[in-house]
Amino acid sequence: MSKPTIRIAAIPGDGIGTEVIEAGMEVLHAVSERDGNFDIDAETFDWSTQRYLDHGDFMPEDGLDTLRTFDAIFFGSAGDPRVPDHITLWGLRLKICQTLDQYANVRPTKLLPGINGPLAGVGPKELDWVIVRENSEGEYAGAGGRVHQGLPEEVGFDVSVFTRVGVERIQRFAFELARKRPRKLLTLVTKSNAQRHGMVFWDAVFDEIKGDYPDVTTDKMLVDAMTQRMVLKPESIDTVVATNLHADVLSDLAAALSGSLGIAPTGNLRPEKNVPSMFEPIHGSAFDIMGQGIANPLGSFWSGVMLLEYNDQPKAAARLMQAIERVTAEGTHLTQDLGGTATTREITDAVLEAIRQSNA
Ligand code: NAD
Ligand code: MN
Repeated sequence: MSKPTIRIAAIPGDGIGTEVIEAGMEVLHAVSERDGNFDIDAETFDWSTQRYLDHGDFMPEDGLDTLRTFDAIFFGSAGDPRVPDHITLWGLRLKICQTLDQYANVRPTKLLPGINGPLAGVGPKELDWVIVRENSEGEYAGAGGRVHQGLPEEVGFDVSVFTRVGVERIQRFAFELARKRPRKLLTLVTKSNAQRHGMVFWDAVFDEIKGDYPDVTTDKMLVDAMTQRMVLKPESIDTVVATNLHADVLSDLAAALSGSLGIAPTGNLRPEKNVPSMFEPIHGSAFDIMGQGIANPLGSFWSGVMLLEYNDQPKAAARLMQAIERVTAEGTHLTQDLGGTATTREITDAVLEAIRQSNA
């Protein structure tokens, strides 16, 4: 029998995206070699702000059709000081997520061994969460407008869009995920005291479907109170489901509480698996450190772990995660965002070495 092949479309994008995706591809190739049970066939695309400045578009017209032929997308970052952020975001990253309807954004947060987060006395046992973010509508549906532009009576508005299909599918996805984790605890985060239409709808759908998951314990929080709970009672949290905007904010907080934005991974998943899902570190282009070779590549590597898991290589995924944890536990190779002085190259080499030394 021939080995399965994972076909990866790598889109490094802008800023440190290019640095961490290059490192991430090296590590993925090394895991595949060490594992021996599957191949990786990768193609890199130059879709970026530079391309936009040169050609007027972030990707070719048939770019999304090209992506559909792959198994997975490995994405760096979209954002460059030369172009307004909303143009870049909608022209590249959101264009991919929305067109491919990757509606479940999954963000694991865990304190890795050897890494001290900002919360005293909180270690890997107390902080181990997964945040599930609705990724296709809500506050980022793109509905809204600007009227009377440039005049004193100018108005700008964004309209949140919550559909029953959209709300129910993300909540069911979160229930399924929560039920696979040891704690089987799901927290619904909304703001249904102030946002009395869409958020009340979210609560109602949750109450309708939760009976289908009797093994999952549930609770509810308002998003502002949730920020306090994350800081003061991290051990009380396991799986969280929230809207596009709320979960966006909560997951940056989660990343900071786990030590650094540079570590945190995410998957933009299409659970039906009829189109590729997209995996990326959650950080952006990091203009302040780009081109210096000092970006933390661990968020990219951990995103690679999620990519392998989602493409049916759980053993290889575990091998890569163990290699990452071995390097953080040793503590001799940390980038400046974690209080160290190591370069991207040094961390990458350390993880490559840990992969080579890993058991069969
Ligand atoms: P950022 O994540 O780029 O940087 C925030 C801070 O964290 C900076 O000080 C940066 O140096 C540090 N940091 C981030 N990643 C790091 C890493 N891997 N190693 C070490 N330090 C790291 O966020 P920002 O400054 O708000 O945004 C910069 C640009 O990136 C903007 O154009 C923004 O729109 C874009 N952005 C894109 C994405 C994405 O494509 N998914 C996500 C966030 C921001
Ligand atoms: Mn964000």
